[in-house]
Amino acid sequence: MKKPLNAQALEYLQYLKEQGVTHVPVSGRQPARPAPGARAPKTPSDPAPTAAPASHPSAPPHLSTPGLASIAAEIAACHACPLAATRKNTVPGQGAIHPDIMFIGEGPGADEDEQGLAFVGRAGQLLTKMIAAMGYTRQQVFIGNIVKCRPPGNRVPTPDEMAGCLPYLKRQIAIIQPKLIVCLGATAVRGLVAETLPIGKARGQWRTFEGIPVMLTFHPAYLLRDGSKKKYAWQDLKAVLARLGNPLPVGE
Ligand code: SF4
Repeated sequence: MKKPLNAQALEYLQYLKEQGVTHVPVSGRQPARPAPGARAPKTPSDPAPTAAPASHPSAPPHLSTPGLASIAAEIAACHACPLAATRKNTVPGQGAIHPDIMFIGEGPGADEDEQGLAFVGRAGQLLTKMIAAMGYTRQQVFIGNIVKCRPPGNRVPTPDEMAGCLPYLKRQIAIIQPKLIVCLGATAVRGLVAETLPIGKARGQWRTFEGIPVMLTFHPAYLLRDGSKKKYAWQDLKAVLARLGNPLPVGE
């Protein structure tokens, strides 16, 4: 069932619940509960990535930032490719503005299509663990996809579908301005940086997208199918931490 547009408030509460937030203040900054092992909150000199306009103190940036909100509205009304016909909800992505890291995957799956949120199924749970292992929370990064509507049966989106949807992602990236991007899986690396190497060879390598460094690595769904590749994905994420100048987790 499609959500009415005014269901954004419910979406936001679901988002917070998924993050482990158990109550929401009526004023002040957006709440964030660091994951176990997460790095201490950023210093005052770091811009707070999840700060929202004062008029909507609790709204997440993907709903409260004017440019992003209007892109999300355009996506919600988009029928530019065949994926519009079978989607339940569009999935514009969610998270912080000006984060250290933006994660980009392939496209929504069944859970994401149902909830209108990126990476909330099993693969999303693994991504949450990967983000926490890096010392971040999901609220401190941005999470999105190449295509904003679920391909039927989770098939790979066609080149035309990816090319048709890419302008939305480009505009989102221009507003979000991440320090770097982590591209998750073969489809995302093809769609974003036109990488032709198989992901098994391309992973661990850096590319750039409009001047932003892009790390190529495995998709969490692939890591769920082949756990032996997790160690390589972790190597890639450690390279991301090193490029950001962040310390590696204790024991690494
Ligand atoms: S996948 Fe992208 S281009 Fe296709 S209908 Fe959805 S928003 Fe529009």
